[in-house]
Amino acid sequence: MTTAQDHGGDVRLSGISKTYGSFTAVQPLDLTVPQGSFFALLGASGCGKTTTLRMIAGLEEPSSGTVHLGDQDVTALPPYKRPVNTVFQSYALFPHLDIFENVAFGLRRRGIKSVKKQVGEMLDLVQLGEQARKKPHQLSGGQQQRVAVARALINHPKVLLLDEPLGALDLKLRRQMQLELKRIQTEVGITFVHVTHDQEEAMTMADTVAVMNGGRVEQLGAPADLYENPGTTFVANFLGTSNFIEAEIGGTSGDDIVLKAGDGKLVLPAARCTAPTTAGGKVLVGIRPEKISLTHADDAGQIPEGRNRITGTIADSSFIGVSTQYVVDSPLCDSFEVYAQNIERDGRLTPGAEVVLHWNPAHTFGLDATQDVE
Ligand code: ATP
Repeated sequence: MTTAQDHGGDVRLSGISKTYGSFTAVQPLDLTVPQGSFFALLGASGCGKTTTLRMIAGLEEPSSGTVHLGDQDVTALPPYKRPVNTVFQSYALFPHLDIFENVAFGLRRRGIKSVKKQVGEMLDLVQLGEQARKKPHQLSGGQQQRVAVARALINHPKVLLLDEPLGALDLKLRRQMQLELKRIQTEVGITFVHVTHDQEEAMTMADTVAVMNGGRVEQLGAPADLYENPGTTFVANFLGTSNFIEAEIGGTSGDDIVLKAGDGKLVLPAARCTAPTTAGGKVLVGIRPEKISLTHADDAGQIPEGRNRITGTIADSSFIGVSTQYVVDSPLCDSFEVYAQNIERDGRLTPGAEVVLHWNPAHTFGLDATQDVE
């Protein structure tokens, strides 16, 4: 395996952009992908993630900026001279060659005669050692994609680029392959840059996720960090669901900001607020549905001190297996979503019931209220 080898250093994009005529697909972008990391470019269709990946591959010429692999400026190098390889959604296997020969292809093209050991190792890596003599059409979609990964890794690229590689698979297989790709990346230790529009996929696999929107990286971070501390409403909603309340800054108390929301107050840790914190300013308070507890208004006295709380009326409820999803109307926020587990099933939390929504202030995040809720 390649773990002891030089893995080529970080991938560094500096001021890289791409325009097509008057249309800007990727705005000038600075991005560093740490060597050996599993890095995801995540965003909706058309946000520029594939174009960014293709500029790393050399398949697309940047309109400005440079691409470095470690110390090497590869901006002017054609794809075949870059130490990178790409796996696409369409596996693009050779249908007339068996699995062994598909994987051996890159070695044979370089004139290497003795390929058995390397191909065998690669097939073992993707757990297809038993399938070596089958033709691609005799394998499942997930197996074919694993062949494509083995074929792309056979020449020991320093960076593997993956463009929606699991897009053609059904959900169950996709989840299996997410774990499989993560295992393979850990084993070979090289940098993987993975393009996806699926937030769950990015969160499951990547060490670092760059959330792209409109040709820009909107936020970059570890999956849990992005989820817990989104910096914009776009990121908050792209990675899961968020409820938002507009509140006014009343003052501070220790490390907390105290906010006025309607007749009540909410507490927000100052460290979790990306908005300007001048008194009287507006903040968009965000809270994830699964962080909220629901208590019938009659039992409000039992809610522990120190929790953020707002009142509301249950508009709808649906049982979704592990939890029940409630939609609560509140004077502060239309259609608050709450995913509640361990709720007492006494039949009182039905549409029309008056309830108190409450949560630990530590789970509250604060965003700039001048942005639109996307
Ligand atoms: P998808 O997941 O749908 O592939 P994406 O985020 O990967 O989306 P890109 O493929 O990078 O998006 O495309 C970004 C934008 O650039 C899109 O609006 C696309 O239509 C446009 N675009 C891409 N390639 C070209 C091209 N060759 N000529 C003109 N516009 C292009």
